[in-house]
Amino acid sequence: MLKANFHTHTERCNHAGCSDQRYVDVAIEAGIETLGFSDHSPYVGFEGDYYSFYRMRPEQLSDYVESINSLREQYKGRINIHLGLEAEYYPQLFPSLLEFLKPYKIEYLILGQHFLDDDQNGLYVQRVSTEEDMKKYADQCIEALETGAFSCIAHPDIVGMDRAHPAFRREMIRILECANRLDVPVEVNVLGISGNRIYPCEEFLRLCRLCNSRVIIGVDAHLPDRFLEREAIEKAYAMIEKYGLEITDEIDTTRFLRYYEANT
Ligand SMILES: [Zn+2]
Ligand SMILES: [Zn+2]
Repeated sequence: MLKANFHTHTERCNHAGCSDQRYVDVAIEAGIETLGFSDHSPYVGFEGDYYSFYRMRPEQLSDYVESINSLREQYKGRINIHLGLEAEYYPQLFPSLLEFLKPYKIEYLILGQHFLDDDQNGLYVQRVSTEEDMKKYADQCIEALETGAFSCIAHPDIVGMDRAHPAFRREMIRILECANRLDVPVEVNVLGISGNRIYPCEEFLRLCRLCNSRVIIGVDAHLPDRFLEREAIEKAYAMIEKYGLEITDEIDTTRFLRYYEANT
């Protein structure tokens, strides 16, 4: 049974629903003992409708932080709550994001690289189909992890590259080796299973085996009821078991704060 989930969204990102408290209540009902919130991080410097679907707006961050921190207090002794964010790594914009996030004492970042290059004008990673773009995806994930700011990599196999292409294998191995080196668990994504998405895929799991990766199950909940979808969660366990992967239910929730200490 799932004891911990660090991949949880809130309605602030505009494509998730329900109150923050409802996620906590349903997580408890599902037997989860540690719940990390990781809504889609605001990014500063964007204009227009960029915020309308993918992420909270910068001015929503303080409400998010206050809400999660107050739930942490309210539910003390019943469930452990952590405060995180899921963020892309956009090389040009990342330094200003870090500056922006600094006062909020976010405990962890998970890397969810949904676009290449520096923003939503870059290629959506599920459209990656060439060797060149596959390498770019891997380079960007590796550069992200090497900043030392990320505690987990969400759905590394969200990238659309043909699984049978040698570049998928080659570049995914680079990502997995980097995650190993930095002691960052890689996620087996439950939303991908329940949504019949291209991830998590067998080839990715095979490569996790090859690289001795440490994996973590992430519900990627955009609705609280996702915690109760036992079939999809059990399927994730079965996939992990099939490939004999090492599983963890912990991520480093001090790494991001340490990152600031090391970089000031
Ligand atoms: Zn989302
Ligand atoms: Zn997510």
